[in-house]
Amino acid sequence: MSYKSERAASEKRRRRSRVRRMKRFIIAFIIILFLSLIFSVLYLMLSVNKLDNRIDTLTQVIRDMRSEKQNISGTSENTDFDDEAVRAAQAAEEYNRTAEENLANAEDTLKVYLTFDDGPSGNSDRILDILDDYNVKATFFVNGRTDDHSMAVYKRIVDEGHTIAMHSYTHKYSEIYKNLENFTADLEKIQNLIYEATGVESTIYRFPGGSSNGVSSTDMSVFIQFLNEHGIKYFDWNVASGDATNLPYTSSDLIENVMSDVVKYKTSVVLMHDADNKMATVEALPELIELLQEQGALILPISEDTTLIQHVTIQ
Ligand code: ZN
Repeated sequence: MSYKSERAASEKRRRRSRVRRMKRFIIAFIIILFLSLIFSVLYLMLSVNKLDNRIDTLTQVIRDMRSEKQNISGTSENTDFDDEAVRAAQAAEEYNRTAEENLANAEDTLKVYLTFDDGPSGNSDRILDILDDYNVKATFFVNGRTDDHSMAVYKRIVDEGHTIAMHSYTHKYSEIYKNLENFTADLEKIQNLIYEATGVESTIYRFPGGSSNGVSSTDMSVFIQFLNEHGIKYFDWNVASGDATNLPYTSSDLIENVMSDVVKYKTSVVLMHDADNKMATVEALPELIELLQEQGALILPISEDTTLIQHVTIQ
């Protein structure tokens, strides 16, 4: 073989082996690429699965927290629902649509019953002071609390001529509305506590959330029938001040809500709250009383003779 052809042959071999190496490299590259793609897909599937599980867990946690919140929010309806004020206003509106006999005529003297739910609270004394300043009597639908301050508030309500009325002992919807047995045990407890603190045997009741609450697991007529049979009168409201919400509102909003409605009715039962976080209610009270008095309205405490304002009734 000539030198030239030998060189050409060796060149050819080298080229072939380069091409082979290149091929091997490309195949290895493709295999690695393929494997890493498979691993990526597997990894992503695992991650999705993990996230899915985590979302399930979180959803459950949120659900638990919500029901827990409903169970322990002993002091006010508004903590159960952010739209409680909307519901309270709707309930009042619905009631007023069907209560034509309560529509005021020009010559009627308006009767206005200011009612404060959920106390005693850190605001009770301020509310009582304002009522005292104007010599106005109101109604306090109270819950059960046995600390010294609360016991003193119950007594002060009665001593100063207001009506003390029951709003359940615990205010826990899930407990009191579970069955009649729970309801009556709770009722007896708040009635006894009020009697112990004030010597008054209260016969006036307001259902937590109203008789139209929509959250009771038992048909409300069961409890209504019990109250009717035992001579206990329950009162809902036909005017909502709008303080039953956690959404922001001002004392002027509350005044506006009440004043725009009370002029329409012979008897207005106004829903307000005696609770630590309801400062606007306290702030609104002096001006509200003044405006009602300017309107010639009689501001009265609820009594046995008060026109019943009830969202739900039974025959
Ligand atoms: Zn309440």
